[in-house]
Amino acid sequence: MTPVETMTHESTAQNRRSNMNAQTLYDKCMALASNLWWSWNPEVINLFRDLDPIRWRQLDHNPIALLREFTPERLESRASEMVLYSRIHHAYRQLKQYLSSQQTWSTTNAGVLGSKPVAYFSAEFGIHESVPIYSGGLGVLSGDHIKSASGLGVPLVAVGLFYDQGYFKQRLDEHGYQVEEYVDTKVENLPVQHALDKDGNPITIKIETRTGHLLARVWLMSVGRVRLYLLDCDVEGNSPEDRSLTSRLYGGDERTRIRQELVLGVGGVRALSALGITPGVYHLNEGHSAFGPLEVIRERMTEDGMSFDDALREVARNTVFTTHTPVPAGHDRFGAEAVEEHLGPLRDALGISYEHLMGLGRVEPQNPHESFCMTVLGLKLSRRANAVSSLHGHVSRRMWAHLWPWRSEEEIPIGHITNGVHIPSWLAWQMQQLYDRHFPAGWANRMGEPEVWQKLYAVDDGELWETHNALKNLLTAFVRRRISRQCRRRGESDDVVETARNLLDPDVLTIGFARRFATYKRADLIMSDMDRLIQLLSNEERPFQLIFAGKAHPKDEPGKELIRRIANARHESALCNRVVFIEDYDINVCRHLIQGVDVWLNNPRRPLEASGTSGQKVVLNGGLNFSILDGWWAEAFDGNNGFAIGKGTAHVSDEIGDARDAESLFDVLENKVIPLYYQRDIDGLPRQWIRMMKHSIASLAWRFSSDRMVMDYARSCYKPAAGGVSCDMNFR
Ligand SMILES: *Cc1c(COP(=O)(O)O)cnc(C)c1O
Repeated sequence: MTPVETMTHESTAQNRRSNMNAQTLYDKCMALASNLWWSWNPEVINLFRDLDPIRWRQLDHNPIALLREFTPERLESRASEMVLYSRIHHAYRQLKQYLSSQQTWSTTNAGVLGSKPVAYFSAEFGIHESVPIYSGGLGVLSGDHIKSASGLGVPLVAVGLFYDQGYFKQRLDEHGYQVEEYVDTKVENLPVQHALDKDGNPITIKIETRTGHLLARVWLMSVGRVRLYLLDCDVEGNSPEDRSLTSRLYGGDERTRIRQELVLGVGGVRALSALGITPGVYHLNEGHSAFGPLEVIRERMTEDGMSFDDALREVARNTVFTTHTPVPAGHDRFGAEAVEEHLGPLRDALGISYEHLMGLGRVEPQNPHESFCMTVLGLKLSRRANAVSSLHGHVSRRMWAHLWPWRSEEEIPIGHITNGVHIPSWLAWQMQQLYDRHFPAGWANRMGEPEVWQKLYAVDDGELWETHNALKNLLTAFVRRRISRQCRRRGESDDVVETARNLLDPDVLTIGFARRFATYKRADLIMSDMDRLIQLLSNEERPFQLIFAGKAHPKDEPGKELIRRIANARHESALCNRVVFIEDYDINVCRHLIQGVDVWLNNPRRPLEASGTSGQKVVLNGGLNFSILDGWWAEAFDGNNGFAIGKGTAHVSDEIGDARDAESLFDVLENKVIPLYYQRDIDGLPRQWIRMMKHSIASLAWRFSSDRMVMDYARSCYKPAAGGVSCDMNFR
């Protein structure tokens, strides 16, 4: 062999080795991107960002889409440039360890659930902005629920729908009017794979209706230790119309809705059977999936030869139902024909009459004028039902009292478990670092415990304040970037774009308001007295600024009108550019807002907010709540951990209530919030404000975490339901 040949030989081997290393590195990154565990682990997020910060942002923080733009070789060279090797290997080991760990809260506290998991059904899951299968609060709650179940090791599988267009993207036209855009999601950019049966074949489920049949395939998404199964009707064998049945979240008419819900409930139960999963508990998160237990009843009748009544009794014992809204229009209702068309074949298999089935969805079973209500069905097919805050519990018991006419209101068997948020998903990295410095080691596994958070009182005021202000600066930069982009897209003048680049003053008290633009949430309450608003906003010494965001349902014209009004505030010079509207509220926008605002405003018409969770996210990051005593805030506010609007009283009419609440809002803002924020000591620190921040975090963070929430569900719903304990639903 000549020296040259040797050299070539060696370098080929080196190449091969380096190719292999490159491939291994790439595979590890893909493995990290393929389990949504990464989405609540800042080290992994930072790692993806470091691969290409600009593309990371442009691709909606989607690591799979990002990695697909790399070859293994380019990834490797980027990794060596940025010294990422050890971080990638470390993150990968962490993930493996997490997935295989046997030591969890559940092993010691919920062992009874064992090999029969909880099946958690929800129409939407908000896990990360790059996985657009959610619209808002309900979805984010489901996402937080399964993330906490993963962390606590609660055996749980989740079932939802795969929307290939998801919910709409919001743009405002030059008049401030909302325009909806639907974007096709690329499956290859999502962390999904085909769910396989025990023989390794992809699963397709079939549902007969009176007029044909529906087919759905099943995707598997890994969310930490939890497997999320998503049903998708875009398959061969369905009519073109049915192929798009699961395209959009909350799109279409009554018929689309009932067909989607048939797929979610009945299809979901069939998918679990096809996967060989036998749940011990069925948790229906809202009424959308309430057809599901009917299919479980059918299975029990077939397998165990039971009568319908006996099977119903058994299945109801294993079923937990959570209701989420006190707004009557929020409860799905279907006409008798739609129900018979879609549930007819299942009804035949159950051997029950048309009247019997319809009666299950009615308060008065025999009343032919009553439509079929999914909430009523959920209540009748479960032995445990709950609302999502203490106040919502009271409202729900009153609302559904006529289902149990022989009971007094207090005895109505609907309890409550107050919603919470997944701390690792919503806590800013900078704030987490601060907590790491002061909290006991291993606190991340004990976030639901009050003692852990007491350490906060010992944190230096300046340290907390600086951390908060660093986050506020990030929010300011985000708002400027977004608003100038919005202006450029609308083709506005360079002057306007330039103004947008300098919007907001980080030294000014910043109030955020972001949520769905439903009229009962009264986004414009603060605009009900424009003179007073202008006077406060433009105060030379102690001004404040307002950031708005939120979508209106495409069919909600009054909601869109609210958006138009607020978005156009920027044209009013008297408002001094101190009111801004960020388009396309989603998990990403929410995260920036809740991590950076000083104050979070929430002013719904009481008691229409079942819980609300965005204010809980604010708490974690040091912002203060300024809210009507509704939903979670009614039980959270203690006089010193934030600000209350109104006294929690009922009003005779909306007009009077709106006027009183507006008066209280301005009163508290002018006399409490603003003075407290600007009252500084010689170090420039607002000591009283910081004291309130600390008290807010220490008294609320653990209580309104989804870890606490899932532990509550495990203890008072899942365990008894799995044991089939015939409890009277009264777990209040
Ligand atoms: C948390 C969250 C919500 C829920 O907030 P509410 O307080 O119920 O309004 C809605 N949308 C998004 C994107 C969220 O992240």
